[in-house]
Amino acid sequence: MTQLRNSQASTTHDLGCMCCSPQMSRRQFLCTTAAGAAAPAIAASFAGTAFAQSAATTGQAPGRPILIKGGCVLSIDRAVGDFEQADVLVEGSKIAAVRPNISAPNAEVIDASNTVVMPGFVDTHRHMWQGILRNILPDGSLQDYIRVVQRTIGQAYTPDDAYAGNLSSALGCIDVGVTTVLDWSHIHNSPEHSDGAIKGLQESGVRAVFAYGTPQHASGNWTQAPRHKYPDDIARLRRQYFSSDDQLLTLFLASPGGAPEAILKTWKAARDVGARITIHVGVGEFGRNALLEKIHAIEPLRADTTYIHCCTLNDTEWKLIKDSGGTVSIASYVETLMGHGNPPTQKALDTGIRPSLSVDVETSVPNDFFTQMRTILSLQKNEVWARRLAGDKNPPKFLTTREVLEFATVEGARANALERKVGTLTPGKDADIILLRTDRLNVMPMNNAVGAVVTSMGPQNVDTVLIAGKVKKRNGQLVGVDMPRITRLLNEARERALTNGNYPRTRI
Ligand SMILES: [Zn+2]
Repeated sequence: MTQLRNSQASTTHDLGCMCCSPQMSRRQFLCTTAAGAAAPAIAASFAGTAFAQSAATTGQAPGRPILIKGGCVLSIDRAVGDFEQADVLVEGSKIAAVRPNISAPNAEVIDASNTVVMPGFVDTHRHMWQGILRNILPDGSLQDYIRVVQRTIGQAYTPDDAYAGNLSSALGCIDVGVTTVLDWSHIHNSPEHSDGAIKGLQESGVRAVFAYGTPQHASGNWTQAPRHKYPDDIARLRRQYFSSDDQLLTLFLASPGGAPEAILKTWKAARDVGARITIHVGVGEFGRNALLEKIHAIEPLRADTTYIHCCTLNDTEWKLIKDSGGTVSIASYVETLMGHGNPPTQKALDTGIRPSLSVDVETSVPNDFFTQMRTILSLQKNEVWARRLAGDKNPPKFLTTREVLEFATVEGARANALERKVGTLTPGKDADIILLRTDRLNVMPMNNAVGAVVTSMGPQNVDTVLIAGKVKKRNGQLVGVDMPRITRLLNEARERALTNGNYPRTRI
C-alpha cells in the first residue's frame, strides 16, 4: 500500500500542486499532494456511569502513550508539513511528536494505515440546543426558523431539553470528526437551562466553547422571558464552570442585536469576566443599517469578537472588522438555504480575512464539515467563474481545497481562541486528532489526500477520533456511549419539547 500511495502522490504532484510550502522537505512534499421547571431527573440519570470512559470501554490504557502509526498525515501546520506516511505520538493529552518511524515501545498502537490523519474540524457557530430538532424545517426560511424553532418550540424548552439537545449535537460532532465546536447557546430561559446545556457538553466529552446567550420568548422580545438572568448570570457561570481556561469547555458570550448602546452594555458583561464575544451580523437590524459602524463610533471594535454571517455588511464594516483583528464565521450552507445573503467568502478574502466555518442550525443543515467545506468551495469558485464569464479581466483567484481545509481547522481554532491548543497537528498542542478512512468506495484509490478529504469524503470515512488524547471514536463507533439510552433520551426530549411548544409531532 505504501508503494501505491507513493506512486499516486507523485503523479498528483506532477499534475500541479498548489498546497506545498517552500519549507517542506521532498518527502513531506510528496504527501502534501496528497419554560419549564427545572427537571433534572434525566440529567441526573446520565451522570457518571453512562459516559464514564474506562480502559474496558475505550481499549485505552490509562497513562500509556498512544502511537498513531503509518497514516498519511496532514498536519495543517506548514512548519511541520505533511507526510505520505508518518506517525503521531500522543502522550497524555498532548501531541508529543509528528514524524515518520517514531519508536515508542511502551505505546499503545493505533494502526493508521489506509487513513488520513489530521486535526479535528473546528466549528465556530452552532446552536446545539436544537440537537433534538434536527431536520425539522427542511424547507424553512430564516423567518420560518425564527417563528417555529425559537418562538414556538424554544420558548417552551425545559432545562432537560437544553441538556438533551446539547448532548445530541455534541455526540454528533464527535461522530463526524468535529472535535471543537462553539455552542452559540440562546436558550437560557432560566439559570437551570444554562446548567442543563453545559451538562450536555460536559458529558459528551467534546471540546466546546460555550457561548452564553439570551433566552427565547414567544413575543420575540427575549427580555420578556420571566426567569432569565441574561447576561448577568455569566458571572456565576464563570465561577461555577469556567474557573480555568485549561479545560475542554471555555466561555464566550453570545450577543443579541439591538441598539448599539444595549449591545455594548451586554459586551461589557462579557469583558468583565474575561469572555470573548460572538454575534450574528447579517440578520435583523444588522447588515443593512451600518450597525457595526454605529457601535464602533461609541466604542472601537476589538479583537475579541467573532462576526457571523456578514453577508450584507458594507465595505466600511468589513474594514472595521479587519482593522480591529476580529474574526469571521461563514455558515455558507445555511446562508444559501435560508436567505441571509450570499456567503461572503470572496469579500472576506478581499478584505484580508481568513474565515472560519460553521454549521449554524441542524434544523435544516447536516451536522458534518464535509458539507461546509464543499459548499464554500463551490460557491466561491462559481462566483469567480461568473466574473470570468462576464468578461472580468482581473478576477479573484480560485479558492483551493487546501485553503478550505485550513478554514475548517486552524482558522476555526483561531476564531474560537484555541489556536494555542488545537487546529493543527503540532507537537505541544492538545491531541485532537481524526483518522479518515481512505479504503472506502467513495475515495479509493486515493490520489490526493487533501482532495480526498475535501471533495470526496463524508461522515462514513470518520474512523477514529481523539480529543485531548482520549479516544472518543474507534473503528467507526463512538466509544463509551450507551446508544440505547441516548436514543431513548433524545426521543423523550423531542416528544416533550414539541408537546410543550404545541407543535405537531408528526414525522411526515
Ligand atoms: Zn446562527
